[in-house]
Amino acid sequence: MIEYRNLRIALLGAGAVGAQVASLLLEHGEELASRVGAGLELVGVAVRDLDAPRSTGIPRELLTTDARSLILGADIVIELMGGIEPAREYLMLALNSGADVITANKALLATHGPELFEEAEQVGAQLYYEAAVGGAIPIIRPLRDSLAGDRVHRILGIVNGTTNYILDRMDLEGDSLEEALAAATELGYAEADPTADIEGYDAAQKAAILASLAFHTTVPLDLVHREGITSITREQVRSARRAGFVVKLLAVCERLTDPETGIEGVSARVHPALVPETHPLAAVHGANNAVFLEAEAAGSLMFYGAGAGGIQTASAVLGDVVSAARRHVIGGPGVAESTHADLPILPISSVVTRYQITLEVLDRPGVLAQIATLFSEHGVSVEAVTQSVGPEAGHARTEATATLVIGTHQATEGALADTVATLGASDVVTRVTSVLRVEGTQQ
Ligand code: NAP
Repeated sequence: MIEYRNLRIALLGAGAVGAQVASLLLEHGEELASRVGAGLELVGVAVRDLDAPRSTGIPRELLTTDARSLILGADIVIELMGGIEPAREYLMLALNSGADVITANKALLATHGPELFEEAEQVGAQLYYEAAVGGAIPIIRPLRDSLAGDRVHRILGIVNGTTNYILDRMDLEGDSLEEALAAATELGYAEADPTADIEGYDAAQKAAILASLAFHTTVPLDLVHREGITSITREQVRSARRAGFVVKLLAVCERLTDPETGIEGVSARVHPALVPETHPLAAVHGANNAVFLEAEAAGSLMFYGAGAGGIQTASAVLGDVVSAARRHVIGGPGVAESTHADLPILPISSVVTRYQITLEVLDRPGVLAQIATLFSEHGVSVEAVTQSVGPEAGHARTEATATLVIGTHQATEGALADTVATLGASDVVTRVTSVLRVEGTQQ
């Protein structure tokens, strides 16, 4: 048997992901050692409560509540506690003590990423975070390494499994948002407090991480435009299907040029969007995640799989462990996170996309022409209009009304917002039922 020198691994957290990481490290230690060329010794697991039940059999003697002492003796520190503090403090301590660090903590990276990356660069250590976006799906390493020689133009990501499950159920089962959320909670896809998922906070954190990496530019979380799915109705999902679309909560990260100022920059946004039924993202069902990416040379690529789950996410963490361990064996400085492009972050008003607007209008002659004029006055070109008599399902008929579904050509957010405001004030429009962006069509 080959004798390897041991690398000391400290694990912070033994919850859904941490317990699986511990178990895989203990079970597959020998095989991993052969791949790495060094033994991987799990020297301790920091938790809050030594007596809490654990889903996998972590030997009791490995558990400790003294995270700091554990960190100080480690070559590699894996943070799977979640939250901002003390996770941030522990990772800084680990980097300062010369360890490479691994985290799955998107909330921490989206808010304190630059500080952590800077520290890692200064001390010549490496910070790995494959599991922070898309759970088991390899997306960080493809962006950081495989596509490092290419130029990424756009990323469309389904990066939150809970909301994808809810929207998928509304689509396939005809559930209301409340019914679909209740089902997601029962199946353990949604937390008791689902705000972070359904209001788009979780997806926005991932969008900030993806955009920063893809565009070599720090994209702060507070500059990511965010809308959740709470206003999406069963009727909108149905009417989207009738028009050949599915509703998805998308993280959209793109390079763009502001049409007014000519400034070239990047933007990151999270909102529900209509995706054509024929687009690969439309086939992402249940709680799965997918990242669809358009690059200059590579063209379109899609990464698809389980976006969460203890064992699935542990796979991505273990991949980082192997990378970190190999670096320890080979030596050399860490590779710094690249933010060299430092592009301006453009606001949502710079975005140019297509829209679908559903209106309830008075059912009188000439109304259609009036509405079309109103769009063109704001420089928004109408691509298609479908009309049906009566209000949308679920809305009471007050007087003779018709429903118009208007698809636009590309327009700026600003022009669209002005159009919608004017529509809302128009005396022939009784209600602006819905305004949704359309993504994933030929631009
Ligand atoms: P979790 O089940 O809540 O587990 C958290 C663990 O951290 C628990 O073992 C807890 O100890 C420990 N912990 C919390 N605060 C601590 C402290 N101050 N000192 C020491 N230990 C502490 O969390 P999780 O679902 O495994 O998620 C871990 C991280 O992975 C998060 O950043 C999450 O966003 C990310 N992530 C999770 C998934 C997923 O599917 N769950 C997917 C992708 C990414 P006790 O057990 O004693 O309470």
